[in-house]
Amino acid sequence: MARLRVLLPLPLAGTYDYRVPAGMPPPPPGSFVQVPLSGRETLGVVWDGEPDPDLPERRLRDIAAVFDIPPMTESLRRFIEWVAAYTLSPPGAVLRMAMSAPSALDPPAAKAGWRLSEAGLRAKLGQSNARFTENRRRVLDTLEEGEVRGATSLAVAAGVSAGVVRGMAEAGLLEPALLPRADEFPRPDLSRPGPALGPEQQDAAAQLRAAAAARQFGVTLLTGVTGSGKTEVYLEAVAECLKQGRQALVLLPEIALSTQWLERFARRFGAEPALWHSELGGRRRRDTWRAVAEGRVDVLVGARSALFLPFPDLGLIVVDEEHETSFKQEEGVIYNARDMAVVRARLAGAACVLVSATPSLETLTNAEQGRYAAVHLPVRHGGAALPAVEVIDQRVAPPERGRFLSPSLVAAIRDTIAGGQQAMLFLNRRGYAPLTLCRHCGHRMRCPNCTAWLVEHRLQRRLQCHHCGHAEPIPPTCPECNAENSLTPLGPGVERVQEEAAEMFPDARRLVMASDTIPGPAAAAEAARAIEAREVDLIIGTQIVAKGWHFPHLTLVGVVDADLGLAGGDLRAAERTVQLLHQVAGRAGRAEAPGRVLLQSWSPEHPVMQALVSGDLDGFMAAEAGQRRPGHWPPFGRLAALVVSAEDEREADRVARDLGMAAPRGEGMEVLGPAPAPLAMLRGRHRRRLLLKCRREVAVQPILREWLGRVAVPASVKVQVDVDPVSF
Ligand code: ADP
Ligand code: ZN
Repeated sequence: MARLRVLLPLPLAGTYDYRVPAGMPPPPPGSFVQVPLSGRETLGVVWDGEPDPDLPERRLRDIAAVFDIPPMTESLRRFIEWVAAYTLSPPGAVLRMAMSAPSALDPPAAKAGWRLSEAGLRAKLGQSNARFTENRRRVLDTLEEGEVRGATSLAVAAGVSAGVVRGMAEAGLLEPALLPRADEFPRPDLSRPGPALGPEQQDAAAQLRAAAAARQFGVTLLTGVTGSGKTEVYLEAVAECLKQGRQALVLLPEIALSTQWLERFARRFGAEPALWHSELGGRRRRDTWRAVAEGRVDVLVGARSALFLPFPDLGLIVVDEEHETSFKQEEGVIYNARDMAVVRARLAGAACVLVSATPSLETLTNAEQGRYAAVHLPVRHGGAALPAVEVIDQRVAPPERGRFLSPSLVAAIRDTIAGGQQAMLFLNRRGYAPLTLCRHCGHRMRCPNCTAWLVEHRLQRRLQCHHCGHAEPIPPTCPECNAENSLTPLGPGVERVQEEAAEMFPDARRLVMASDTIPGPAAAAEAARAIEAREVDLIIGTQIVAKGWHFPHLTLVGVVDADLGLAGGDLRAAERTVQLLHQVAGRAGRAEAPGRVLLQSWSPEHPVMQALVSGDLDGFMAAEAGQRRPGHWPPFGRLAALVVSAEDEREADRVARDLGMAAPRGEGMEVLGPAPAPLAMLRGRHRRRLLLKCRREVAVQPILREWLGRVAVPASVKVQVDVDPVSF
């Protein structure tokens, strides 16, 4: 009988061999199947390659069912393997990111499914005297009251065979019901004209359209100052891709808050795109996954995990704000979606467009060396001027004691608001104060689980760790010396800036935009509406305000602490700070009213401040490149981190030392560490880091694999591999 390899979405599994039962046509590679695995049923994907002919027949189990859904494309299968090999992750762990809940595999249209009958509901609630097998109990636990699921998805979700579900139906515990109709995914209207493009925009759009029409792999970097029309231009590439009959994927860093982007898309194409992000509800998620697999979604806007969706014929991937470090996934399979987008596009024969006003040094270097094409929009749309950037030297004109806004910034805000315009204060720090100190004994409130200070959130009357989520009430006395009223907040967070602003500008209508106050799309949309409608005079925000907003009446941006990101030894800190502050600055000024940006800084001569003031970002990046090239730091060399963590500090140290001793040696490579990781303790685990730095031409994966193979790691110690770490 025929045998097949099946990849299971489990972190420890490679492929498993299964038998095709008599009477079942052998499912082709990529088919979604249900298979038994140690007494349970699970999902899998028929994989390529030859099954092991020596595996004895008695050890093989039969494929239980084949789902009625288009098989996963070869290009996605190769992509899964590629990501697994690059990140040193098990392929099954990567496959898991490409799978959805089992019920997504049920046909979406009205079709028979099962729901709990009255007897079933009583049994579920424990109001029945009957006794149930463990398998039946699992089904009862899985199915919610009133929920309808197909037999296969129910069986898979409960981890039982389809026979159990059938048996329960026969016993009257389940009754047939119609599965809900999947939501519609409206198709974009390609006959709608786009906006009239300016001459530079037309050239850029023509190049991107040509890239999308080529139906082959290529990467284009699209740059241009904020407001130059990058989004309008790449939407033309999306239109071209759809005309080719292929699907387009747009990755955005802060998708749940991108309501303005979605509105623009809807204006351009008469329909909203499909969405994919972590806050998508379970039902919507399953329907979207299914619709993508069946080719019913033309354009999808998503977070990084959207790269793993089963598009039948992906023709274009746009990565907007490509420099954003939030494209890096730091848990589980550690990957950078910007880089993996390029790989996904290559394997799919698709065009890839990387978009940024401030591209990463990686991408700039790729463009300079000719690996990527480059398209540049030199001016703001409609002749708007770029904002004028000035530094307020904190050494010369500091804020008053205990205050954070200097007199000249206060005056500028006052003038702006008096002139009927809007102002914004930016501080990339949530909460009230980043540090709480006892004035009596000097004790500092720190997280019990992490190497981090607790951040006061005054509105919630709590101290919070921004790394592990630990929170505790603000203590009435110092926990160390018991002094009363001695705990003092040090330094500002947005809440504290808001407090100061309330005193300074009591009549101004203020709006705080931070993750506490803007938790999701609805709040983001409402904030955008209020600002556009001029119901707000002063916006006070964290990095949330930096992302892609267009506020036509905003003319002044004040950066409360421009030096904030520069502390610490991270080689990339300067690049990141320039990118963030440039992005924030870009919120100010539109065609109607020129903008002004004031940076409060203690080091106005720092290259970051100089670059922002002069606007010479190219020069800044060239200098950055000059600093990294000699030492072969990325992007002029390769870097991988091993992060060793354990609850027991000595264990972490011992494994880190063993790894250090077993470090690979060879020409063009160097191992740094072990040293405490950037967060030496995180969620109660002690962390050590080793960095492997290689010349560009060296492939790091085989070196890492061999290295890890030389060291015994006990189960209580975790070694995470982070290829291309974002900070170093
Ligand atoms: P970027 O992405 O470079 O910041 P956008 O594409 O978001 O620029 O454009 C900035 C603003 O200018 C948006 O409100 C956009 O709708 C508008 N805009 C850009 N180009 C045009 C155009 N050709 N016609 C009309 N409006 C445009
Ligand atoms: Zn913590």
